[in-house]
Amino acid sequence: MTSTDDLLARHRAVMPSWMPLYYAEPLEIVSGSGRRVTCSDGRTYLDFFGGVLTTMVGYDIPEITEAVERQLRTGVAHTSTLYLIRAQVELAEKIARLSGIPDARVFFTNSGTEANEAALLMATNYRRSNQILAVRNSYHGRSYAAMGITGHRSWSSSSLNPLQVSWLHSSDRLRGLLSRLGADEHVDAAVDDLREVLATQTAGDVAALIAEPVQGVGGFVAGPDGLFGALKKVLDETGILLISDEVQTGWGRTGDHFWGYQAHGVVPDLLTFAKGIGNGYALAGVVGRADVVNEVPAISFSTFGGNPISTAAGNATLDYVLDHDLQANAARTGAILRDGLREQVGDNPIVGEIRGRGLMLAIELVQPGTTVPDVPATLRVFEACRQGGLLVGKGGLYNNVLRMGPPLTLTEDEAREALDILVNAIREASAA
Ligand code: PLP
Repeated sequence: MTSTDDLLARHRAVMPSWMPLYYAEPLEIVSGSGRRVTCSDGRTYLDFFGGVLTTMVGYDIPEITEAVERQLRTGVAHTSTLYLIRAQVELAEKIARLSGIPDARVFFTNSGTEANEAALLMATNYRRSNQILAVRNSYHGRSYAAMGITGHRSWSSSSLNPLQVSWLHSSDRLRGLLSRLGADEHVDAAVDDLREVLATQTAGDVAALIAEPVQGVGGFVAGPDGLFGALKKVLDETGILLISDEVQTGWGRTGDHFWGYQAHGVVPDLLTFAKGIGNGYALAGVVGRADVVNEVPAISFSTFGGNPISTAAGNATLDYVLDHDLQANAARTGAILRDGLREQVGDNPIVGEIRGRGLMLAIELVQPGTTVPDVPATLRVFEACRQGGLLVGKGGLYNNVLRMGPPLTLTEDEAREALDILVNAIREASAA
């Protein structure tokens, strides 16, 4: 037995049965540099999933390593947030300024799930209501409340939901009530849906609508630009808050904008962030209107949220993103990939849709000429990409979507290299 086989056997023996591992032969990543990882199989791969969009600026970035090492050399890895932490305050100032939310407050957590829990706590206390509007096909995390607002079967809570949740239609263009509509009709239909849900499924005093500008786990599904703005007009009639879950969409990943919400001509009341901000170090949080954030009823803190190591990494990562204008790079390299895919395999019969913006791109695979999800074809493309030297993600409501979220430092050559691998994999899979 090789050491990887041994590790796999031990993993299976000790980890929960529902924890997935990618690939028929699971990988152990042993080192990384730039956009590439080397695995215990001895091969080096172009990493287009980046630890699920967490390795935002790439592997082995000296600026980030040095910032973390500087903090480690002080001998202090942790102090708890009961003491002043310089890096935490500095990062909060930057995030508050970048958020676009006037007089914003920032609360740090360790994960996106916790950030959404905190946002729900703030919104429900501020509005004195436990009613939440959520969107089908969404994913917001693994806690009771976060699963309760997740409209995705594989993540739905089978237990009691602490919130009363009503569901809006998703913007999936291949199926569902809003599918195949033009942008204006789509927005109008979504507004009608919201009004109907408010009138028929709620008691009126709803706390918040939580939505992802681009549904991440749901397969990088996004509504037309302006959708959130149109919905917010309705929410504002009765003071319902908008929570923008930017766990996957923040920090310039979508190319055109720094935050996903900015495509919608609206400013959310609360915004949750996680994933890329620590470039792999666990860091997340909520930024939002001071009056809403401050509404949490008791003194509350997070033991590890905003700790000195994570916030040192967070500051270095955010500075790197801004100093290198990685948002523009995401737009540029993402366009090479998206346009190339559309040109070369857009009319392949197993390709249902190529979508996304910036470096958040997806390919939905379907049975030839239909909108029926094709999971076996998806797996074939997924494994063929690995064989070709490219790691991508899987997802979507039916697990038939390949997702690409490489580090925002991707070069144009790397985008073309990945494009070739993807095109070959799709052609092979459709011929099989
Ligand atoms: N929200 C969104 C949009 C996510 O994609 C995720 C994770 O994938 C979460 C929340 C939960 O974040 P975490 O896994 O850090 O708890």
